[in-house]
Amino acid sequence: MPQDSQGLVEVALPVPLFQTFTYAVDPASRMPARGSRVVVPFRSGTEIGICLGAANGAAPARKLRHVLNVPDSDPVLSADMIELCQWMADYYIVPLGLTLRTALPSLLAGAEKPEPLRKTHRIVRIRADLPTLLEREKAFARAPQQRALFELIESLGGRSALGHLLQRLAFSSSVLKGLEKRGLIVVEDEIVERDPFASRPAKAADRHQPTPAQAAAIAAASAGKGGDVFLLNGVTGSGKTLVYIEILKRLVSEQGKTGIVLVPEIALTPQTVDRFRAVFGDDIAVLHSALSDGERYDAWLALERGDKRIAVGARSAVFAPLTNLGAIIVDEEHETSYKQGETPRYHAREVAIVRARLEGAVVVLGSATPSLESWANAETGKYTLLNLPERVGGGRLPRIDVVDLRNRSGPNEPREGPASPAYAHVIREDLDKAIEETLSRREQSILLLNRRGYSSFVMCSECATVVTCPNCSITLTVHRAPERLLCHYCGHQEEPSQVCRKCGGRTLRQRGLGTQQVERLLSDRFPSASIARMDLDTTSGKWAHAEILDRVASGAVDILLGTQMIAKGLDFPNVTLVGVVDADTGINLPDFRASERCFQLLSQVAGRAGRGPKGGRVLIQTRVPQHHAVVCAVTHDYLRFVREEMPGRVSPPYPPNVRLANIVFSGTKATAAGNLAIAAADWLRDLLDKREIDSVMLIGPAPCPIERIKNRWRWHVLLKATQASELTRVSRYFMERFEVPSNLRVTLDRDPVALL
Ligand code: ADP
Ligand code: ZN
Repeated sequence: MPQDSQGLVEVALPVPLFQTFTYAVDPASRMPARGSRVVVPFRSGTEIGICLGAANGAAPARKLRHVLNVPDSDPVLSADMIELCQWMADYYIVPLGLTLRTALPSLLAGAEKPEPLRKTHRIVRIRADLPTLLEREKAFARAPQQRALFELIESLGGRSALGHLLQRLAFSSSVLKGLEKRGLIVVEDEIVERDPFASRPAKAADRHQPTPAQAAAIAAASAGKGGDVFLLNGVTGSGKTLVYIEILKRLVSEQGKTGIVLVPEIALTPQTVDRFRAVFGDDIAVLHSALSDGERYDAWLALERGDKRIAVGARSAVFAPLTNLGAIIVDEEHETSYKQGETPRYHAREVAIVRARLEGAVVVLGSATPSLESWANAETGKYTLLNLPERVGGGRLPRIDVVDLRNRSGPNEPREGPASPAYAHVIREDLDKAIEETLSRREQSILLLNRRGYSSFVMCSECATVVTCPNCSITLTVHRAPERLLCHYCGHQEEPSQVCRKCGGRTLRQRGLGTQQVERLLSDRFPSASIARMDLDTTSGKWAHAEILDRVASGAVDILLGTQMIAKGLDFPNVTLVGVVDADTGINLPDFRASERCFQLLSQVAGRAGRGPKGGRVLIQTRVPQHHAVVCAVTHDYLRFVREEMPGRVSPPYPPNVRLANIVFSGTKATAAGNLAIAAADWLRDLLDKREIDSVMLIGPAPCPIERIKNRWRWHVLLKATQASELTRVSRYFMERFEVPSNLRVTLDRDPVALL
């Protein structure tokens, strides 16, 4: 008997296929609602998908497989959220099942264990006190190991996690069992307290009166209509956070709505998060990147139930399951970390704007250096521009001076004083003096070098061969402690060799400077200063960022040295000097946004100086003092930067003058990847010709600037379009129809943030 469409549901699965799937529901079970998760058989296994509702149209001829399980009593995704995911699927050319999965916490995305449990862990607690030494001697006379364990638990406050004792402290379970048998301890389950922020001391809320500029911005944004986008262009230290907080107070606290605050990388912005917590307390769920999956799920539940009404987090917080959304704030909207680097390659700022439009919320994009895209949208009136042109509280932007690294100094002209030649070459006299003076005033310095490791590469002085990664076309960076060569793209490590692999020469030289080396040079030069280094290598621990920054805040650190991590959001009034050791690290990258990134980074880091009454200054060491990215950062002149940068994006056109899609072809064989790119370019050219589409331009094919990453050779084709809708159509047609051999891979990156 053929089935009719009754009892059938349409399901989106997280698989790389541009289609949805029809499944039957047992007549005896209830029909899953739209937005519920369903566990279904797929190929030879099971998958968890999202039910999109009853399947419409005639039932297919072949026999359908059945839904196995409907784990939720209520949908996990609202109608609005499904629509948002549908938009992402269309815009970024990704199967719907993949965008839907991105919108859910990962604990809800596993088919094996669809029902996440409340997290418990086993703890060990001391039951009896053994007060006198004599009693203790007696009890443990023949069990010294039991005694050691018992006393350890005692010293830990009478309780400890079981796993900690067994794994980390390596006690055997028989010792533990012995104690348990004698009734001295109990082992029990405890529901884990999963709000790690509960332990962070609460700050008192600032009670500043908004300045007139802040007040105007607050009034404008809180009176916005649903879907309105505001671009808050406020110089560093202009009090953007207060504006965000006041907008949320009006919408959330007064009007009962909810809000989302996006920050670029939450680990780097503990201060900003603390400020929100100080005002909104228990209303806030912080979606920190260091949370475990379980903690994340708890936060998700609290938001969904309405127990918490503001979500603060990085990129993925844009999917917070809030209803009655009033505002989405995107702090530092120009940051590239808002773009996801893997499928679906969405930009949280764009998703925020679409979500706000769907749900009637306003969007506030904040930055001292807005992306050129957002700036262009403000100029055409698509966004409303709000300005905070001055620092609050009478503060002034710091004075910035340039140190020209081309001027000879260092080894050839030894300076007076205790500096070594190597140091003198890296930290020029002006910067050295400034650091010394800052130390002597017991104030703090921040030094930026956007390159981690010790030296950036190793070169043979005989044949000029540079040591590169075997898997990537990238030089290996020298790291110390332990000494090794490391690839920053794939993580490949090797022992440094004494001999050049190419010519056998024995004169390998380390070139280029990394943060580890600067740290060493500084600690030699200022032995009594307390120096903290913050880069990817020092921040692998869960809360490492917060620990370093807390030490800076408490005054325990004199010099904070780091990569771009230290450029963001920090507000330390005692930081009166910012030094940029080498401003040119990214300026020559073969990417059309290289200047913009450099300008943003310099402006951001300069903005860390002089945020208190003591003022501050900035020194930028560079080999290109005339470069407009440097000149405009030095003069704090965003508008001039826009004026000088825009013409370079006209011919050849680049965003914001056109929209981009970067299609990357990769494979383990260089020729196969190249041939596929050539075939694809022909295919696309044909399509554009036949359909007479002249609003889309095709560039390439060409090898990617980084030709090989993780053993895959990479080629690309760039689509440029004057119309977004045309770009969507062409991209979709291509991704759905162009045939890719199974050993090769094609990825499409819409609105790429880099073309490397
Ligand atoms: P931005 O994010 O724009 O760089 P912040 O929001 O970090 O600036 O604000 C900088 C400092 O100014 C903070 O210490 C904040 O408490 C303070 N501040 C903000 N608004 C005011 C105000 N209206 N009056 C006095 N101080 C303020
Ligand atoms: Zn590599």
